Amino acid sequence: MEDDKKAMKNMFNITQIYLDTSEKRTKLPKLALEFFDAIDNDGDGKVQIHEFLGFTREQGLTKMNNRHLFDMLDRDGNGSLDFMEVMCLFYIVKSGRPFCGGCGCFIPDIFFTCTKCFHNEEGSFCLCTTCFHKNKFQHKHEQNYFLDNFAMLELQRLQAVAATKPESSSSTSHSTSNAIVPFTPAEKKQGNMKFELFNAGLAAIGGAVGNAAGAVAGAAATAGGSCNIM
Ligand SMILES: [Zn+2]
Ligand SMILES: [Zn+2]
Repeated sequence: MEDDKKAMKNMFNITQIYLDTSEKRTKLPKLALEFFDAIDNDGDGKVQIHEFLGFTREQGLTKMNNRHLFDMLDRDGNGSLDFMEVMCLFYIVKSGRPFCGGCGCFIPDIFFTCTKCFHNEEGSFCLCTTCFHKNKFQHKHEQNYFLDNFAMLELQRLQAVAATKPESSSSTSHSTSNAIVPFTPAEKKQGNMKFELFNAGLAAIGGAVGNAAGAVAGAAATAGGSCNIM
């Protein structure tokens, strides 16, 4: 519970940073005000629980349509949401912050996500640390296909980097007869990248995600099905 409070405090900080640093300084406050007005039905400058539930129901935000999230947003516990508390909701909606596939709760900090479902159009499958740790969920994919959000982000980065590099087999297709040159700088770079991927322990991750997300690197795909990085 204390952890949740701390995590929510971070969420409010992030929301504030977005409001402060937005490039569209003149536009964002207008959008934000419109969002607030859309929820604040009676226009009294506060959002009550019935207004929150009405808005989330109308917008089809079914996972948010409960008192639990409202109470998490109500940081001063006065029973209604002020402007910044509603802006935090705005951030949650816009950033696609996940809800737990086990307990159904909003996840304000680190979460685990199924690497096999990550690119699903209907949405990914995420778990809070407690449900993941205690295996309290039912899902078509096993626990060892899950990664925490930081490891998942790093995997996405490495995949994007790998996708921009040419195939390593290109060295064999050289038509040049200049065999004296031991290797080209490009080949050296490719070799280093593969080594770094391997060194980072990402071979195992690549095996798990391989089909769904494209290979991290050819060599990575031969590893087992587990994506545990510990
Ligand atoms: Zn959970
Ligand atoms: Zn899955």
